[in-house]
Amino acid sequence: MGGGLAGLTLGLRLRQRSVPLTLFDAGTYPRHRVCGEYLSGRALSVIESLGLRSSLDQLGAVESSDVILSRGSSILSRRRLPQPALCLSRYQFDRFLINQLTSAGATLHTNQRVSFQPSEGIVHATGRQPSPTEHGWRWFGLKAHARNVSLDAGLEMHLSSRGYIGLCRIENQQVNVCGLFRSRHPVSDLAAKWKEWLSGEADSLLSQRLQNAQWDDSSFSSIAALSLSPRQATDRLGINIGDALTMIPPVTGNGMSMAIEGADLATQPLLDWSYGKISWAVASRQVAHRLDHAFAKRLRHARWLQHAMFDPFAQSLAWNLSRIFPAFPSLLFRLTR
Ligand SMILES: Cc1cc2nc3c(=O)[nH]c(=O)nc-3n(C[C@H](O)[C@H](O)[C@H](O)COP(=O)(O)OP(=O)(O)OC[C@H]3O[C@@H](n4cnc5c(N)ncnc54)[C@H](O)[C@@H]3O)c2cc1C
Repeated sequence: MGGGLAGLTLGLRLRQRSVPLTLFDAGTYPRHRVCGEYLSGRALSVIESLGLRSSLDQLGAVESSDVILSRGSSILSRRRLPQPALCLSRYQFDRFLINQLTSAGATLHTNQRVSFQPSEGIVHATGRQPSPTEHGWRWFGLKAHARNVSLDAGLEMHLSSRGYIGLCRIENQQVNVCGLFRSRHPVSDLAAKWKEWLSGEADSLLSQRLQNAQWDDSSFSSIAALSLSPRQATDRLGINIGDALTMIPPVTGNGMSMAIEGADLATQPLLDWSYGKISWAVASRQVAHRLDHAFAKRLRHARWLQHAMFDPFAQSLAWNLSRIFPAFPSLLFRLTR
C-alpha cells in the first residue's frame, strides 16, 4: 500500500526476484510532491544496485556537492559535502520508477485509497502519519519549481524567521524551491501567498536569488499536519516503511534515502516469507529490528539538527560550534546518514 519512494523501491526489489506484487496508491502518476528533491546518503548505493543510476542521469539528475547556509543577507557557512547528492524532481523520479515497476510485471491500482489493517502480505508504505499540531506548532511544507534562478552552490539553505527554504538545481535548468515552516495559528491564505512564503524576507539573499524567478505554477504543492517526532518500528503493528514508519526532519535531506533504504532492508525477510521459509510474524519482527537498528542513531541526531534550525539559542550554538570546529557541519551531515 502506497507508491511513494518506499513502496516503489520495495516493489522493484521484490519483482527482481519474481515475487507477485500488487501496488495500491491513493493518487495518480506523474504528480508533483512537496520535497526538497535532494537525494543523499546510503540510498544512492541502493539506486546503483537496482541498476537505475544511469537512467536517472539520463533524466537529467544533477549532482550536488556543495552547500551554503544563509540567514538574512549573509552567508553563514559554505561547505563541500563528504558525498555528492543527486537532485531530480519527484515528478520525473516517481514516474520513472512506476514505469519500471509496471514493466517488471507488478499490478498497479492508482486512485485507490485503501484502509490499513495490519494483515499478512500487506506492507504499509503510505507516507507520513498526519498530526495537526506538535507541541503547539503547525508544521507545513511548500514547494515549486522555478527558472531563471542562479545559485552559488548545489544546495542553498536559507533560514528565515518562519522556517527555512532549500534551493537546488534539478533537471532542465530548473531550480526546486522547497520550504518547511511552522506557525502557532492556522495559515489560511497559502494558496494565494505561497510565492511570498517561498521568497523569504525582503532584502534577504533568498529574495535576491528569486527576484527574477519564472515560477512554474503547475508544480506548486503543499503539505500540512507534519509529524516530526521519531517512531520505532518495533512499537508498531505490521510492516511499515518510509514515512509511514517515521519521518526524519526534512532539514537532513535524508527522508527519501530512509524510504529507499527501508524498502531495501525489508526485502530479504519479505522474500523469505514469500518463499515460505518464515512466518509473517517472524518477517515483521525481522523487518522492524532491521529498521530500528539502521535508523535509531540518525533519528536522534536529526532531532537535534531540526531544533538548531528553529530555536534561536540552538541556532547560535550550532553556528559558534561550526566556527570553532570547522568539521562540525560535516560531522552532523554524516551523523544524520
Ligand atoms: C518540506 C519537505 C522537504 C523534504 N525534502 C527532502 C529532501 O530534500 N530530501 C529527502 O531525502 N527527503 C526530503 N523530504 C522527505 C521525503 O519527501 C519523504 O521522506 C519521502 O518522500 C517519503 O517517501 P514515502 O514513500 O515513505 O512516502 P510518500 O512519498 O509520501 O508516498 C506515500 C504514498 O502513499 C500513498 N497513500 C497514502 N495513503 C494511502 C492509502 N490509504 N492507500 C493507498 N495509498 C496511499 C500516497 O498517495 C503516496 O503516493 C522532505 C519532506 C518535506 C515535508
